Amino acid sequence: MLNKKTIEDIEVKGKRVLVRCDFNVPLDVETKTQITDDRRIREALPTIQYLMEHGARVILCSHIGKTKNKQTLAPVAKRLSELLGREVPFASDVIGEDAHAKADALQDGDVMLLENVRLHPEEEENDPTFAKELASLAEVYVNDAFGTAHRAHASTAGVADYLPAVCGYLIQKEIGIMGEALNEPKRPFLAILGGAKVSTKIGVIENLLDKVDGLMIGGGMTYTFAKAQGGNVGNSICELDKLDLANAILEKAKEKNVKLYFPVDTLCAASPAEDAEVSVHPSNDIPDGLEGLDIGPESIQLFTEAIKEYKTIIWNGPVGFFELDKFANGTNAIAKALAENEDAITIIGGGDSAAAVEKGGFADKMTHISTGGGASLEFLEGKTLPGIACLMNK
Ligand code: ADP
Ligand code: MG
Repeated sequence: MLNKKTIEDIEVKGKRVLVRCDFNVPLDVETKTQITDDRRIREALPTIQYLMEHGARVILCSHIGKTKNKQTLAPVAKRLSELLGREVPFASDVIGEDAHAKADALQDGDVMLLENVRLHPEEEENDPTFAKELASLAEVYVNDAFGTAHRAHASTAGVADYLPAVCGYLIQKEIGIMGEALNEPKRPFLAILGGAKVSTKIGVIENLLDKVDGLMIGGGMTYTFAKAQGGNVGNSICELDKLDLANAILEKAKEKNVKLYFPVDTLCAASPAEDAEVSVHPSNDIPDGLEGLDIGPESIQLFTEAIKEYKTIIWNGPVGFFELDKFANGTNAIAKALAENEDAITIIGGGDSAAAVEKGGFADKMTHISTGGGASLEFLEGKTLPGIACLMNK
């Protein structure tokens, strides 16, 4: 499936190996020193452990937060040391004296972590001089940062110009599972697409319409489709400049014989607030002054029944304003229906959808929850990811 070389295809013993991980973990708001979810660090362990066990001198790097925030990766060094059961030396810079000194001191099987690559603005600019300096620390490059694989930055793509480049287990797993679902799905194959706007999902819809047997639409984009079909959507999110596009999508679905599922009813309120007064209306007849914020009870019934019939299900985008419990019923019901369809391959792509599944406690019931929000979306759009394209072919 993945035609790129992996860590198993290259000699690493005694070599300094630069590994780009996605350690962009959430930190507590007050002190910015406590990691509130270490999933991304745990997902990187198989690659790190393989390299250590095979005698590599492992130099880990990552970004954390935005360039302008200049956040330190120190909390990650601490957590990594705990998870690996040994002290992980942490360089106070990325390409400076400390990084070089610590890299030179590595013995076979050792591991260290560099400071946040985004302390250098050159990282996001994919500056070749910076990429070359980073590469000079090592003899082999491993990209395992699926979460930033859709970005052509110095540490995610640029360094591959200067070193033999392969992927780690996480990228291999992400591309393997999602690639197989897209290209050789167990049928019937359903895509559930939600989120706020059609405009952010056009690419995915168009790519998936060529592949799926069923398409379920929920979330804010429902109302652009309803309006395009002549419905009343009140104050719901609606992109008036996308009505023609919505109709074109409906037409294409018909041509391709893709079964479409739309919410028949909608939970509405004057605004998204936990104490809002709610009422249920047909999705194409929402009174003025009200906003559609979740799929209604009849739609939940319709959707959860339909989900039982599918063997591969890809879900991107919550079907309601799930951040508020009052409008999270639809999203939770979808997560539960996926969890209960034990025969199906269930894949969650998208940061908010993944958060919803975790919050509902269904995470371990899914076949795969992608670690990359934006990257998984671009992959589902059929785009080439620069962090993967730059790696050596098999
Ligand atoms: P993902 O991160 O999984 O790709 P998106 O970012 O596309 O998902 O969409 C998530 C956002 O969509 C959430 O913030 C959610 O509140 C919003 N959303 C879903 N349904 C509605 C709706 N009916 N009205 C307004 N916002 C909605
Ligand atoms: Mg999102």
